[in-house]
Amino acid sequence: MVEKVILAAPRGFCAGVVRAIDIVNIALQTYPKPVYVRKEIVHNQHVVQELREKGAIFVEELEEVPSGKTVIFSAHGVSPAVREDARLRNLNVIDATCPLVTKVHLEAGRYAKKDYTIVLIGHQGHDEVVGTMGVAPENIRLVEDIDDVESLTVDTPKVAYITQTTLSLNDTRQIIEALRAKFPHIEGPAADDICYATQNRQMAVRQMAGQTDLVLVVGSTNSSNSNRLVEEAEKCGAKQAYLIDDVEGIRPEWLQEVRTVGISSGASAPENLVKEVVQFFRAKGAKVEELVTTTENVQFNLPKNLVRDMQAVPAS
Ligand code: SF4
Repeated sequence: MVEKVILAAPRGFCAGVVRAIDIVNIALQTYPKPVYVRKEIVHNQHVVQELREKGAIFVEELEEVPSGKTVIFSAHGVSPAVREDARLRNLNVIDATCPLVTKVHLEAGRYAKKDYTIVLIGHQGHDEVVGTMGVAPENIRLVEDIDDVESLTVDTPKVAYITQTTLSLNDTRQIIEALRAKFPHIEGPAADDICYATQNRQMAVRQMAGQTDLVLVVGSTNSSNSNRLVEEAEKCGAKQAYLIDDVEGIRPEWLQEVRTVGISSGASAPENLVKEVVQFFRAKGAKVEELVTTTENVQFNLPKNLVRDMQAVPAS
């Protein structure tokens, strides 16, 4: 019987996700409908569905957006080719790329200009990785693990690395060590490009996991940072760890002989979904406590063109 729930903190929405969702909501009130969003604005099906119900139209590619309409780029960022395509299609672009992803794009651009081979540590096919690779497709080589480092060859004297923002801290450190061993002169950011939100959520889950029999991470299956939280929990002593979209995802067989449940959520998972999971256990008599490992107060500004257009809309 579950006696205790430990809630990891920080968890849930990061500043980049809050900004991206705000951008869609404001755009829906500022521009003539429909407003289009290229790709999932953030990787959470509940968030996407809620915005869809408010009128946002989600598309995979810009060719689905009629000329002259408003399109929002997702928090994961886009390649320069997509920006150019939007310009040629005369689209009104509102860019919800997280500023911490933009920082990685700028790093890639700087290295590419100086003819570096850029090793991008990340997951093949993830929207963020696709966008970052598009910044310098000729220069960037993707590595996903240490095996990829071993088989990597470069044909320039200068080599640098950059990383996806939502990776496992420990795995990335090991890959960077392997890169440094293979290319002693490799350059890169002081630590890595893993963002503050990913780091903080992983640290909180690590501290919590050892005190629990089961860890539940609220998040969608295509959310990179949420999947990493499940892996961290498994590595740090949780007997079981699962990713669930919402309370409906809890399976009764997971709860057998479980006394303490740890709960966290990915950076794109709304807190109301976590509350429903907590309520599920509270209703069974479990006590709830929060394990706070750090606090966050990061905020990002809205895109300037959105702020300008929003201020130009007459008050109703
Ligand atoms: Fe930005 Fe990190 Fe949030 Fe991604 S997880 S949107 S990089 S703050």
